[in-house]
Amino acid sequence: MITKSRTVPIELLHLRSIRARQKVSEKIENQVHTLEKGFSEETWFDQRLESLSLDCLILNDLLLETNNTHYQIDSLLISRRKIHLFEVKNYEGDYVVNEDRWQSLSSGIEMKNPLLQLTRSESLFRQLLQQLGSDFTVESHLVFINPEFYLYQVPPNLPIIFPFQLTRFMNNLSSQSSSLVEKHHTLAKKLLSLHIKKSPFSLLPQYSFGEMEKGILCIVCWNEFLKYGNQHKLTCPNCGSWEAKESAVTRSIEEFEHLFPELKITVSTIFEWCKVIKSKKTIRKILSKNYNLIQSGRSSYYERSK
Ligand SMILES: [Zn+2]
Repeated sequence: MITKSRTVPIELLHLRSIRARQKVSEKIENQVHTLEKGFSEETWFDQRLESLSLDCLILNDLLLETNNTHYQIDSLLISRRKIHLFEVKNYEGDYVVNEDRWQSLSSGIEMKNPLLQLTRSESLFRQLLQQLGSDFTVESHLVFINPEFYLYQVPPNLPIIFPFQLTRFMNNLSSQSSSLVEKHHTLAKKLLSLHIKKSPFSLLPQYSFGEMEKGILCIVCWNEFLKYGNQHKLTCPNCGSWEAKESAVTRSIEEFEHLFPELKITVSTIFEWCKVIKSKKTIRKILSKNYNLIQSGRSSYYERSK
């Protein structure tokens, strides 16, 4: 049972719109690429976990803080006896392990040892459980999902799951008898309440309303602004996808809210932001559906309905 699904990271949402609306550095382009890749890999692993026939709770993409230290858990699975913690990697190529050092076999270049990151997260998570008065056993796994990855000289005691072992691992988990009771659900709820939504790690480039190109971005390719296809639908000149006008405007307002939490939502601002929509009346109609109008002297603005 999925208790917390993975959603597109806020950092990626922000970067998608910023890079489509203004020029960004190559570093940012790479950052977007890495985030997109990471997100699709993790989603792939989520689907594998979802297919388990085990009474369990799954919390994906948790950002927690213990003793003033932030750490991320790719996937967490609460079963009757144990909590499984997963760190998912999509490394490619041949590597060799020499004690704590992981090196590329061809170039000899050392990479960051992902086990150190996993050990750190596990230790912080155990401390958190202690603070919550919970006595669950924690087991961590480093999961490699790319079949084009190989690691030489791996001691067998390392908590690693290679691509060819994943099916067996999942079958093993599925075959365990597990029925959850109240304490499992209570813990899952507690962890969810501790999840930090805004990542302290994200670094965004500078942007401003004035400098950004206006229009409604395509939700499929994030590369082009939508144009009118017919009276009720918009279409993307780049990838050819279609979207209902109202859904596209609603989405664009949400994007505006994320990017500019300090700016007021007014009909004029959203009209300018969406650009493609021909009448302010349409904008007003869509705003009134999901937002409350706040009258404030001569100027009025909208606030999201609670
Ligand atoms: Zn498109």
